[in-house]
Amino acid sequence: MKSNHYHVVITDCDHGSIEEEKREFSLIRAELILAQVREEEDLIRACKEADGLINQYALLTRKVLEGLPKCKVVSRYGVGVDSVDLEAATDLGIIVANVPDYCIDEVSNQTITMILTLIRKTAFFDQKVKSNQWDFHLGIPIYRLHGKTLGLIGSGRIGLEVAKKISAFGVKVIAFDPYLQKAGEGIELTDFDTVLKKSDFISIHCPLNESTRHLMGERAFQKMEKKPILINTSRGPIVDEKALIQALAEGRVSGAGLDVLEKEPPDPQSPLLKMENVILSPHVGFYSVESISELKRRTAENISSVLLEKWPRSVVNQEVKGKTRAVILE
Ligand code: NAD
Repeated sequence: MKSNHYHVVITDCDHGSIEEEKREFSLIRAELILAQVREEEDLIRACKEADGLINQYALLTRKVLEGLPKCKVVSRYGVGVDSVDLEAATDLGIIVANVPDYCIDEVSNQTITMILTLIRKTAFFDQKVKSNQWDFHLGIPIYRLHGKTLGLIGSGRIGLEVAKKISAFGVKVIAFDPYLQKAGEGIELTDFDTVLKKSDFISIHCPLNESTRHLMGERAFQKMEKKPILINTSRGPIVDEKALIQALAEGRVSGAGLDVLEKEPPDPQSPLLKMENVILSPHVGFYSVESISELKRRTAENISSVLLEKWPRSVVNQEVKGKTRAVILE
């Protein structure tokens, strides 16, 4: 292998250290440069010689991509690739790769933690005891978890992991997922309204798009019969927050665990901040030391795979197959 044969540029990243990436590229003796640029002209200048790009926020527009004659692959930290003009990349034969599954353990645990915290009223009691109120009656009624029903909205990677974990608590799992023909193990696939009607807890694990924006709105809250607890660790705008606040205030929803909000951070006046049956976290579901390390390593691996003439683990623009700039041994 030729020394420093390959050039890889990280357009920008806010991770602090790039040790994982360095380690990965030292294996193929590629030169790695951290450019920290965001403007079109700067990107073209900094990435001109790059065989591969790692990207976080910098917008890789058609103009930028057209200015990078050697670039064979772009790998984005994480799931979303909205920073890359996918059509332009495909036209130019550039493979775009991502890492869709680096935090399944973390987000599923965040979901389970929120359900347990709300059902056992842990955060509520913590506040009470710390303000010198030692009285469990303040939190009654508390219901048993075993035998309850969890309804999933979306049963992909994270939904499945939540189902697997919560089954150990004796919870039945039903799910609405219009794109699945067959449910995962231990999950009963059903329609949206049945999930709303039958669930004691509802947890959202579908992507945000035009058909899921405000999916959990007034109409949905009206169909809930069991005063469920709502958990959202997916994307804030899937829940119509105004309608949720109303449903919580009227007791039609008995609690909410929200890792994501319509506006992040929330408005300091948001009633959600004052509700005792609502627990919030600052979009932390994806994070652990290990998940970030895995994300960085696997983002870099996507690049080395292409430079070693192999497909990366997760290709976003499948249409590029058959016209890649890189030689890929099928
Ligand atoms: P995934 O693609 O594996 O699963 C999503 C599932 O949703 C798929 O099975 C799909 O068929 C289903 N779906 C699509 N449209 C639907 C609809 N209208 N109604 C119901 N189901 C629908 O994704 P995943 O890895 O399980 O991640 C789920 C979501 O979690 C992501 O979209 C992302 O927004 C969110 N997420 C949040 C964090 C965080 O830090 N809180 C971290 C990672 C991912």
